[in-house]
Amino acid sequence: MACMSDSLLDPLRARYDVVVVGAGHNGLTAAAYAARGGRSVLVLERADHVGGAAVSARPFAGVDARLSRYSYLVSLLPRRVVDELGLPVRLVRRRWSSYTPVADGGLLVDTQDDAATRASFRRLTGSDADFEAWGRFYAMTAEVARRLAPTLTEPLLPRAAVRDLVTDGVGEEAWRALFEEPLGEVLRRTFADDVVRGVAATDGLIGTFADVDEPSLRQNRCFLYHVIGNGTGDWDVPVGGMGAVSGALRDAAVAAGATIVTSATVTAVDPGAVGAEVAWTDDGGRTRGVTAGHVLAGCAPAELDRLLTGAGRGAASGAVAGGSGPGGVAGPGPEGAQLKVNMLLTRLPRLRDDVDPVAAFSGTLHVNESLTQLQDAYAQAAAGRIPDLPPSEIYCHTLSDRTILGPSLAGTEAQTITLFGLHMPARLFRANPDGARDRALAATLASLNTVLAEPIEDVLAVDADGAPCLEVRTPVDLEGDVGLPGGHIFHRDLSWPFAEAGSGDGDAGGAAGSPAERWGVATAHPRVLLAGAGARRGGGVSGIPGRAAAMAILETSAP
Ligand SMILES: Cc1cc2nc3c(=O)[nH]c(=O)nc-3n(C[C@H](O)[C@H](O)[C@H](O)COP(=O)(O)OP(=O)(O)OC[C@H]3O[C@@H](n4cnc5c(N)ncnc54)[C@H](O)[C@@H]3O)c2cc1C
Repeated sequence: MACMSDSLLDPLRARYDVVVVGAGHNGLTAAAYAARGGRSVLVLERADHVGGAAVSARPFAGVDARLSRYSYLVSLLPRRVVDELGLPVRLVRRRWSSYTPVADGGLLVDTQDDAATRASFRRLTGSDADFEAWGRFYAMTAEVARRLAPTLTEPLLPRAAVRDLVTDGVGEEAWRALFEEPLGEVLRRTFADDVVRGVAATDGLIGTFADVDEPSLRQNRCFLYHVIGNGTGDWDVPVGGMGAVSGALRDAAVAAGATIVTSATVTAVDPGAVGAEVAWTDDGGRTRGVTAGHVLAGCAPAELDRLLTGAGRGAASGAVAGGSGPGGVAGPGPEGAQLKVNMLLTRLPRLRDDVDPVAAFSGTLHVNESLTQLQDAYAQAAAGRIPDLPPSEIYCHTLSDRTILGPSLAGTEAQTITLFGLHMPARLFRANPDGARDRALAATLASLNTVLAEPIEDVLAVDADGAPCLEVRTPVDLEGDVGLPGGHIFHRDLSWPFAEAGSGDGDAGGAAGSPAERWGVATAHPRVLLAGAGARRGGGVSGIPGRAAAMAILETSAP
């Protein structure tokens, strides 16, 4: 991602209509919409590049492979945002949604061949019952998606309105299953097979450290966001990698007139009556200040609380989206729970099954993710241990898009692999980050090797220094690298996609709230709005909260 530090070439103004903290993809989205609406916009980004957790990078010395370093698949980015901003983003649909190796066989879900999928279910489970249940269950989630997705780019609806939308169109049972009963109960009732239950459960656990039976329903919210994207719940491959998505958003923001400064760390936000004062340090370490009509926090709510507290504003002055601080952070801080491993392979490893490796690796390949295995791993991690058999999922980008490989790799069998390990909470890494990282990686690769016919280590490419092409990041690493508090990939646990009474969403979605309340981006300070993943309806690569923040600004004030 190109670094833009134009402060020397183009002296900054003393005041902007909008100052955006953080040039993650949501900050960039907010900047693009606000600038297109005629507002003067300054984006300040701490890193020397834009994109936040949606970036591409060449992590291996001397190897010309640009991997989506953190996030890798796109589902939640609305077509509406792509069209409104004219983003040249290309997404590739994956034919095989998942493959789950089990002993010497496995479960392959082929979205284009029902007969093959039915046969695969029958081989694994011994009957057609779970295949039929699978069809019914995902037809239900698809119908909920079709109804709910368009609401994500509109002001918040009250809970009752979303309930009506679901119950009138899909049925009471759909509402109960997705919004009221713990995911674990629903999956046990729906499917008989432990592996089938687990494959479905993973969507509730990616980025959410939870027991599937938790009364908090955090796992349900995570599941919901994994099945409603763009009205289909499909997870597509961004051509050129995730950096192409953020790059398109950066270009849209700049084309609309926004100024983006990288290596610019915001140190305090003081929301005054006539303008918010934003203090920041530039790439030379100099302290700077700028006045903002509005501040849009593309950073995490916990970071916003810190910035407001730094300005002497205190953190317990308001509530939004389920918390008590201006950014809505209450109780213990957010905690991520994933181990991310990026790899370059000389070729795909052999599997025990005779499944086509292209089919197995181009969708999501589930490793030791039966419901029992997931629950065991959760219990061990919650007790402070690295799980014995870490569950994970892997996916190969280059089977769908080889544009991320340079010419030296283009004609080879090389493949990039992304591994997303579940149930590796930040708490496991705090005391001994390096030692725990090594142990977590060893356990994760050993777990992966239980489903392969040859060790993954045998097919790892080596970089220019002779080191294996393998990059591993714990939640603690992500906290340092990307500024995700606790390494939480959604900035904090996801919230329901509707207004909730007592949450700071105005009158819980009624028309009487302020624009920021109605869009789900309010803080205790009228001039400071959430614009990142921690806002209501945030999380994932979507641009939804960034757009919502800009919409609220454009409704609030004239340029
Ligand atoms: C390993 C991993 C895998 C993931 N996989 C997927 C996936 O496949 N699909 C998907 O949809 N989502 C995925 N996600 C989640 C998704 O990437 C994030 O939820 C989303 O990118 C968050 O975007 P954002 O713009 O809101 O915030 P961020 O990307 O976190 O950006 C915030 C920006 O603010 C900057 N910042 C913070 N504090 C300051 C400050 N004081 N001053 C200046 N700048 C500051 C940061 O440097 C950062 O650039 C994944 C995340 C991770 C970490």
